[in-house]
Amino acid sequence: MEKFDHSYLQMAAIWAQNSYCKRRKVGALIVKDRMIISDGYNGTPSGFENICEDETGVTKPYVLHAEANAITKVAKSGNSSKGATLYVTASPCLECAKLIIQAGITRVVYKDEYRLTDGVDLLRKAGIEVEKVD
Ligand SMILES: [Zn+2]
Repeated sequence: MEKFDHSYLQMAAIWAQNSYCKRRKVGALIVKDRMIISDGYNGTPSGFENICEDETGVTKPYVLHAEANAITKVAKSGNSSKGATLYVTASPCLECAKLIIQAGITRVVYKDEYRLTDGVDLLRKAGIEVEKVD
């Protein structure tokens, strides 16, 4: 655990509250050289209505996860996530793990364990440092 891990995770948890998803709110921050270069929470793409679930309460297939929103925001910004740390309130899923690897992120710190560990397993396999911090 590094010095500001707990603080950044708390900030990610506060950021998660911006999510309009009802089933689950997840927040993410990307930090590089002690600067927050991106943030994200789970939600629909830009321009879509801010409702994550359909009439039956099932999450819409086009909802982006917090990590995906944070990573794509960097892509839009002209900044680079290479060598950065990703802070996320829940352990990444397999799809997000792929994006994290390809974005050049080298460290992932998360708070809550997701029911599936295949995302975290893939990150570790790719040589990414993964840490669970409470
Ligand atoms: Zn995900």
